[in-house]
Amino acid sequence: MELRTGARTDVGLVRGNNQDGYRSDHPLHAVADGMGGHRGGEIASDLALDVLSSWKDRLLDEDPQRLREAIQEANQTVFRHGQDDEGLAGMGTTLTAALFSDGNVTLAHVGDSRAYLLRGNTLSQLTEDQTLVAQWEREGKIDAGEAEHHPQRHILRQAVGSGADLDVDMTTVELRGGDRLLLATDGLHGVVGDDERIKETLLAHDDPETAAAELVELAKAAGGNDNITVLVLDVVADTAPGPATGDADEPVIVSKPSSGTRKAPGRLRRNPRRVALTAGAVALVALIGVIAFARSAGPAYLLGTSDGYVALLEGTPGEGGEPPDAEVVEVYRDVPLSDIAKPSREDLRSGIEVVSPREAERILAQLPRQLGPRDTPPPTPSPTPVRISVPEETPAP
Ligand code: MG
Repeated sequence: MELRTGARTDVGLVRGNNQDGYRSDHPLHAVADGMGGHRGGEIASDLALDVLSSWKDRLLDEDPQRLREAIQEANQTVFRHGQDDEGLAGMGTTLTAALFSDGNVTLAHVGDSRAYLLRGNTLSQLTEDQTLVAQWEREGKIDAGEAEHHPQRHILRQAVGSGADLDVDMTTVELRGGDRLLLATDGLHGVVGDDERIKETLLAHDDPETAAAELVELAKAAGGNDNITVLVLDVVADTAPGPATGDADEPVIVSKPSSGTRKAPGRLRRNPRRVALTAGAVALVALIGVIAFARSAGPAYLLGTSDGYVALLEGTPGEGGEPPDAEVVEVYRDVPLSDIAKPSREDLRSGIEVVSPREAERILAQLPRQLGPRDTPPPTPSPTPVRISVPEETPAP
């Protein structure tokens, strides 16, 4: 399968440095968006991409599901570096990788960068954002409009390097000649906010290099307040086995999105079985439902409250603002509930589901920041002491 590719990474209009990165070395392509103080973010995204690149030869002619192992190794490497160097503690990165093989693309995904497929006039998002807000939206706690402007929309459920355990979403999609795949960090979709405009830009420019450059311009025109990275990957017609034109433009999911930290990964098959699901969009929605269910089924760890403090709980979260049905595991005495911004405080009162105590601590570290860790400007020195007020009127989910 032959590709034509276009790639851009740009610091944007507001940030001082570029913590994003990408690698494009066919058949392996990836974008990463690092986070962490000082140089941590740059180092995290670079390290993760280097580890991934080192897997390229091993992934050729192998089961593409082994891409998950590559991401796990990247996670271990970034995590170890963060532990070894105090200045890099807490660094992490998103990672969205695409491996082309056998007429398919296999995606491995952690964080809130995205993969999209443009087929004909239909743009489909192939990855799910691993953010708290996206989780709430899937669970019906907030609607799409609220999610788009939610103050916690940038808080990730996990990142590569942020913990020993990692939940890698894997998806395999069948490709056709003429398909265009887009990998992008949230400096694009998080700023542009409207997939329709992303689609229009992709449709307007046939050359992938031009399309990539124009997507960066689109993000800048919308404010450019984050680093922007895009990879445009065009499947050259006649090099993919699928028909260049078909009945439906929705992607056909070959292997369902899968993830898991609570159980050991299953045995890997050498070749993914091609299960051609007909109504692709319906299947995708159903599968997303399955994932949301799997993540919310049964008692789980919760980030909640106890006695006026933030606490780790075990149980089930409350519905519609009700308190959770849960036991207290640990009270974080150093974090009074009053330190947390109001929208998060209300989420805590019902319990925020987390996969592990470590994830609870990581999310807790992000919570007080009203705009999320990657949007919060550094504090500017002020000649007189000012009280930083928490906007109490922000609507809660
Ligand atoms: Mg970003």
